[in-house]
Amino acid sequence: MNHIDYFERIKMALIVQKYGGTSVGSAERIKNVAKRVKKARDEGHDVVVVVSAMSGETNRLVALAHEMQEFPDPRELDVVLATGEQVTIGLLAMALKNIGVDAKSYTGWQVAVKTDTAHTKARIEEIDGDKMLADLKAGRVVIVAGFQGISSAGDIATLGRGGSDTSAVALAAVLKADECQIYTDVDGVYTTDPRVVPEAKRMDTITFEEMLELASLGSKVLQIRSVEFAGKYKVRLRVLSSLEEGGNGTLITFEEDQNMEKVVVSGVAFDKNQARINVRGVPDKPGIAYQILGAVADANVEVDMIIQNVGCEGTTDFSFTVPRGDCKPTLELLNNLKNTIGATEVSGDDTVCKVSIVGLGMRSHVGVAAQMFRALAAEGINIQMISTSEIKVSVLIDEKYMELATRVLHKEFGLDK
Ligand code: ADP
Ligand code: ASP
Ligand code: MG
Repeated sequence: MNHIDYFERIKMALIVQKYGGTSVGSAERIKNVAKRVKKARDEGHDVVVVVSAMSGETNRLVALAHEMQEFPDPRELDVVLATGEQVTIGLLAMALKNIGVDAKSYTGWQVAVKTDTAHTKARIEEIDGDKMLADLKAGRVVIVAGFQGISSAGDIATLGRGGSDTSAVALAAVLKADECQIYTDVDGVYTTDPRVVPEAKRMDTITFEEMLELASLGSKVLQIRSVEFAGKYKVRLRVLSSLEEGGNGTLITFEEDQNMEKVVVSGVAFDKNQARINVRGVPDKPGIAYQILGAVADANVEVDMIIQNVGCEGTTDFSFTVPRGDCKPTLELLNNLKNTIGATEVSGDDTVCKVSIVGLGMRSHVGVAAQMFRALAAEGINIQMISTSEIKVSVLIDEKYMELATRVLHKEFGLDK
């Protein structure tokens, strides 16, 4: 069935609503979600709901898996992790039926969210919307398990932590939904995590580019891939509270507001999922960066910040950051390679974090990075690594200063005003 024909006929809005872990964290909360969905139905909208596992459940499953294997088999880990969302979809369908709303739940593989085979961080490749459209046409609410799909090898695959956001936006793109609403435990996107800085301000709108940076730099309010999807398919994406009534939340916009450039820094993000690897005393010759980072890339480890020092007496030092969970395997790998690459020492530090400032206005302002470094220095916070792009500056620091640095930078750039 062609969705264009379908929507021309019924002249209704189609909304994809996503509810995160806290929003479905108890039987009461699931009943509350059912009421919200019913409200949208009563207003005449077609609704597809994507849900996460109940809060704490995915962490519990991860911990169980680690009791079986130090590094759980990725395919089997996905089999375990995907169960969390399956519980929530069934419960929500029951809650809806109980208040007179026809609904049907589906796991990721049932609606055919097709992914690649990168277990625990699979990418969505294709979704077949027909089954969902048929249910909507029959007047049903469609409930889909977030965070999961079926790989090209026919196995259950999960989309990485926070992946239900991506499931929702991808479904909204395929179904050409009028809006994708991400309901969570805060009432929108803030200038920084409001749990760390109570003075943080909610933004009515945020540009797509800024949201993309904030998400990639650790603001977990939206998974980075969900923002990428929204950009690619121009999905109208909004973040709202599932716990409070009313409010328009934060809309992610694709046009730049004229006033935007006046705001130099619009948000501060932090990320504890970081570890620094140091390789010392390697020969300062062509190909050395490739020898080190090539091996790391072959092990499927994502490298972020990189520093190579200026060589001295024929040798140089090399540092880079990896996700914290990859620290130990990366160190093992490089220790095995130590003699081949001629390094004198390989070491790692997984007590670091990355703090970043983001803003479109940085494009047209100079001295923003210097202002950031001065503010951190005034608090005695040592910077270990720096990386910059047109609209962000990131620093790697000791994790014990993470909250202090976030608060200081939030104030320094006037975000509490
Ligand atoms: P859900 O379970 O609904 O997916 P998450 O915990 O993944 O919720 O994301 C919501 C959380 O993101 C908030 O509770 C907040 O602590 C955190 N967060 C981090 N940065 C921001 C920000 N800039 N604006 C709003 N929330 C943020
Ligand atoms: N339940 C998964 C997680 O905790 C996916 C999600 O909530 O988006 O990461
Ligand atoms: Mg989330």
